[in-house]
Amino acid sequence: MIHQFDTVIVGSGGAGLYAALEASQRSKTAVLSKLYPIRSHTGAAQGGISAALGNVEEDKPEWHAFDTVKGGDYLVDQQAAAILAEEAVQAVYDLENRGLPFNRTPEGRIDQRRFGGHTRNFGEGPVRRACYAADRTGHMILQTLYQQCIKNAVTFFDEFQVVDLILDGSTAQGVVAVELATGDLHVFAAKAVLFATGGFGRIFRITSNAYANTGDGPAVCARRGIPLEDMEFFQFHPTGIMGLGILISEAVRGEGGILRNRDGERFMQRYSPTLLDLAPRDIVARSILTEVRAGQGIRGDRRIDDYVHLDATHLGKETLGSKLPDITGFCKTYLGIDPADAPIPVLPTAHYAMGGIPTDVQGRVIMDGAGTIVNGLYAAGECACVSVHGANRLGTNSLLDLVVFGRRAGRHIGDYVRQADMPRPGTAAADEARAFIGRLTDGASGPHGGHITDDMQTTMMENVGIYRNATDMQAAVDRIQELRQRYRSVRVQDTGRPFNTDLLEIIELGNLLDLSLVTAASALNRRESRGAHSREDFPERDDDNWLTHTLAYLKDDSVRLDDKAVDTSVWEPKPRTY
Ligand SMILES: Cc1cc2nc3c(=O)[nH]c(=O)nc-3n(C[C@H](O)[C@H](O)[C@H](O)COP(=O)(O)OP(=O)(O)OC[C@H]3O[C@@H](n4cnc5c(N)ncnc54)[C@H](O)[C@@H]3O)c2cc1C
Repeated sequence: MIHQFDTVIVGSGGAGLYAALEASQRSKTAVLSKLYPIRSHTGAAQGGISAALGNVEEDKPEWHAFDTVKGGDYLVDQQAAAILAEEAVQAVYDLENRGLPFNRTPEGRIDQRRFGGHTRNFGEGPVRRACYAADRTGHMILQTLYQQCIKNAVTFFDEFQVVDLILDGSTAQGVVAVELATGDLHVFAAKAVLFATGGFGRIFRITSNAYANTGDGPAVCARRGIPLEDMEFFQFHPTGIMGLGILISEAVRGEGGILRNRDGERFMQRYSPTLLDLAPRDIVARSILTEVRAGQGIRGDRRIDDYVHLDATHLGKETLGSKLPDITGFCKTYLGIDPADAPIPVLPTAHYAMGGIPTDVQGRVIMDGAGTIVNGLYAAGECACVSVHGANRLGTNSLLDLVVFGRRAGRHIGDYVRQADMPRPGTAAADEARAFIGRLTDGASGPHGGHITDDMQTTMMENVGIYRNATDMQAAVDRIQELRQRYRSVRVQDTGRPFNTDLLEIIELGNLLDLSLVTAASALNRRESRGAHSREDFPERDDDNWLTHTLAYLKDDSVRLDDKAVDTSVWEPKPRTY
């Protein structure tokens, strides 16, 4: 079946919906989503969205931009960070005007809380910059934007899973998608395609990410020759529930929560004397692991699954109930404890992809270090790399990224589609996808993908985690290559067509394997430590050789690595202390 739209947006999280809202003002717009829109991972975002409103204390966009650059260990493109911080203020007011119910100060202004790495006056101390709706900020953003999209007559194709991008030379022509309800393949011809498929934390065993976060957009693009940028930078959030990885938002520390080791010591005093528990995430995650390795975890056995305590008991039932109600609920459900009475056992959990599909500040996908544009192809949100997060994202800057760059991309698309011709890809565009799915479901016997998934996630967790070294990363590359070979003989056990989740999961596994390979290869290549990429064999940052973005091209079984200049036009890189 062939459909025609000016604009096709893949993904209905915050980035996709904001882009759809803008693009639909001036073009016939469809949103394809493998999930029902409000089940997107944006809805799980808890803590907040940052903007230098200065509502509760003095603040400036310039300070916000600087914190973003320093937080990203100077791998951030600085003009992009300036746009992020400057447009943040209006973006938050726009969300408010569209109906988002932010928490308020007693005077009726949008309230703001502290978050890691956000500081007053270029690093003097923590500043209250995160706007929030209790600990359900992402949920509120998603609801608000979805309602606005319905009002603006955006056409939704819910439960359509995109499996391929149609490219003619360097021009996007549309996408190929499987309709979950029927198993039918659909071709969507479009003048502009935007990927907003979110993150891919599912390459790791312990993650805060939902099952659907399988990086389909970046994987599809990579197989069509588009490079992926800075894939070695994957953020581990310091506070996942021990053993499960379910996120305990940084908002707990923003409201005053304290990390403690087995002696009850506030150990962050030793690692970050100024910002303490509100240091950026890479630093806090490493500090926790260092404590655990030194036998200072709660069990004290030095095993990497030992944990520390997040102490929120002094915040009181009232603050926990009014500002952190969902988190209080998670602790009761998953741990059987009330955080008002007992500390929360936590360990770092794989959380956020700083890398992804490279774009310029209009959301246009670029295909090389010179910035060559792919006509009509856009990306926004976690699957994209602008790059405003560099080597380590600050908390609350992702929701902001979705809104600011989702909107910019949507606006640019509105202009672009007016002068672009409607492509006519034809049904043959789906032949490759049809052949691939046919092979998976041909009834031949073959292994099921489940063991491959487990093996991949354990390999990535153990060898490409918080602390890395060449031996482990090389082992990961080799293992993932083997798993990709084994994947070729995988067969779907369920050969039915309607809601064949078995088939769709196997397609997702193929995407995760490709992204694991690119992540491990990019990490092995970067011989320095910067932000979330921390190497035991190269412990220092090395600006002389490595102050550069990575571009990784996946071609069959190999990854070719190239680089791309970092924009350091505003602030000169300095040592990063907090
Ligand atoms: C638990 C948690 C808490 C967080 N808290 C915060 C916070 O407080 N503040 C903050 O700034 N950031 C936070 N983050 C990060 C932030 O929420 C995410 O980075 C962001 O929401 C990603 O949004 P997105 O629009 O890029 O993608 P998502 O919201 O993940 O949406 C992806 C969309 O793509 C669709 N999709 C994917 N693949 C396909 C396909 N093949 N075909 C069709 N559709 C597809 C999905 O259906 C979905 O609609 C948090 C993240 C997590 C996991």
